[in-house]
Amino acid sequence: MDKLIHATADGGTVRVLAAITTDVVAEAVCRHQMSPTASAALGRVLTGTLLMASTLKDFDRLSIKIDSNGPIGGIIAEATRDGTVRGYVKNPDADGEGTFYVIRESGFDIGLHRDPYVGSVPIVSGEVAEDLAYYLAKSEQIPSAVLLGVLLRNSEPYVKAAGGVLVQMMPGANEHIITMIEDTIAHAPHLTTVITEGATPKDLAKLALGEMDFEVLEESDVAFKCNCSMERARTLIAALGPAEVGSMLEEDNGAVMSCGFCSEVYQLDEDDLKKILTTEG
Ligand code: ZN
Repeated sequence: MDKLIHATADGGTVRVLAAITTDVVAEAVCRHQMSPTASAALGRVLTGTLLMASTLKDFDRLSIKIDSNGPIGGIIAEATRDGTVRGYVKNPDADGEGTFYVIRESGFDIGLHRDPYVGSVPIVSGEVAEDLAYYLAKSEQIPSAVLLGVLLRNSEPYVKAAGGVLVQMMPGANEHIITMIEDTIAHAPHLTTVITEGATPKDLAKLALGEMDFEVLEESDVAFKCNCSMERARTLIAALGPAEVGSMLEEDNGAVMSCGFCSEVYQLDEDDLKKILTTEG
């Protein structure tokens, strides 16, 4: 099971999130048909989203959305505070410029949806880790260092290693520390090399912090998990209205729905559609 840790250093003024996400990314790659480039990009976004979501306080869910005509195209990932993430690549083949969004939401599952908090910056590098660090510095005024890595291979299992570290300077942090951490990171071995060798999230934190002492506050499981279900598929079909459902029944003797976030396919047969028509009518 993939793990994520929440740690602090320098009297709590430095916050460190570190995660191994090899299984998370493997699950995403297994579910979605993607090119290696798209797989690597989505893997980084899923990892970055999990790291960011673990810092949520007043919201339940955090999404990172990259709307780009750039080499990695459009990507969306949504993670909950309790360590689940889902996501997909919208358009792996596009190219040009774009926008990097971070969206915080709450109240969805209990029907009390608050206005989401949305922040965005233009894409500056096309490297997810650099764009996330740029977003945090510009949009949220949190000086940050971000490392995200995905290592793929040519045969199954395609994902050899994946993980990430996010270091944030909290108010009152010594301004020299971010420079020191950036320097440590610049000279550190590749994240995916140490993960391949069996590194834990704590080892990743150590890799980013160098000689600095740190304290692990929490360790939790993380997983690729979607909240779609047959129940939700039925509700979505029912929402199309009796006329549309009736024509699905007549013309196709059923309906097929595929979840964009996880590629799960839901097949509704004649009886399912008839039941929708009688309940709705
Ligand atoms: Zn799904």
